[in-house]
Amino acid sequence: QLGRSQLQFYSEALDAAVRQRHYIATGLRSALEQQQFQLFYQGKFNAGSGELEGMEALIRWQHPQDGLIAPDCFLPVAEALGMMDAICEWVLLTACKQTQQWQQLLQGTARKLTVAVNLSASQNLRDKLLAQVQSAIAESGLAPALLELEITENALIEEPAKLAKVLEQVAAMGVTLSLDDFGTGFSSLEHIKDFPINILKIDKSFVCGIEQDERSRRLLAALINFANGFDVMSVAEGVETEAQANFCRDHGCYLLQGYLYCKPMPAAAFYQQHIEPLLK
Ligand code: C2E
Ligand code: CA
Ligand code: CA
Ligand code: CA
Repeated sequence: QLGRSQLQFYSEALDAAVRQRHYIATGLRSALEQQQFQLFYQGKFNAGSGELEGMEALIRWQHPQDGLIAPDCFLPVAEALGMMDAICEWVLLTACKQTQQWQQLLQGTARKLTVAVNLSASQNLRDKLLAQVQSAIAESGLAPALLELEITENALIEEPAKLAKVLEQVAAMGVTLSLDDFGTGFSSLEHIKDFPINILKIDKSFVCGIEQDERSRRLLAALINFANGFDVMSVAEGVETEAQANFCRDHGCYLLQGYLYCKPMPAAAFYQQHIEPLLK
């Protein structure tokens, strides 16, 4: 419709996208066995005391040619390839083992650090999750109370009754459940009633605008109030400035996570910057 040259441009772009997807898919198939996945860790900090309370594990793909690839670039392809169960199993086990190792170093200090693992909406949560969590806990020796699972609202839509049952079994083990990206999905409020949710993670989109706009401030305050009124713990993600941190803290948010406190980083760097100082 726009004329020949633009049509050609469009098809070239589409072609490039298809080629890139194919390229990613080809490499992904061997990424697990070649140990090219890596977990980065980002701290979560007590809003009042500023103390480290735990971390979120975030996957990266160390591509042999292209360097570090972000999850948004390859997880959708992994989903299409049916690889999410295998990836989740690896993430769970790796995060639990790493946290247990740090926990053992912290033994003399009475500090306990939690680790949060993201679950993807497409993955076969209903059938495999319980067994995966059980075996990660058994193999790592991590206390179940130190494991947290982050689930997005959109993951709760399909077969909610079946999923609620699985999540109740996981919760009965002592594992914590958080609702991730709270406020961005569908029918959020319903899920808090029907699922054993302990933590609401307020999406970073509600945090980033508050310095500019009074309505954004009121919305964020309302979300924090909602969590507190419901007796679930509130976590604000994407906290990048002191003003944002102060606002969240003053409105009763319990944990803060974001670049202001800690960027996601490899385990060795996280240990050096955030765990080792606790040992002194
Ligand atoms: P998410 O769970 O909402 O994770 C938060 C994202 O925000 C992360 O992006 C994190 O690096 C980024 N972030 C943290 N602090 C800040 C900040 O202060 N400002 C801004 N602008 N961003 C911040 P990342 O690591 O690229 O992960 C993107 C998404 O990929 C995650 O969103 C999660 O949905 C998914 N993901 C990551 N790791 C895994 C995994 O192991 N398994 C599954 N299923 N999904 C994962
Ligand atoms: Ca998350
Ligand atoms: Ca999130
Ligand atoms: Ca997100």
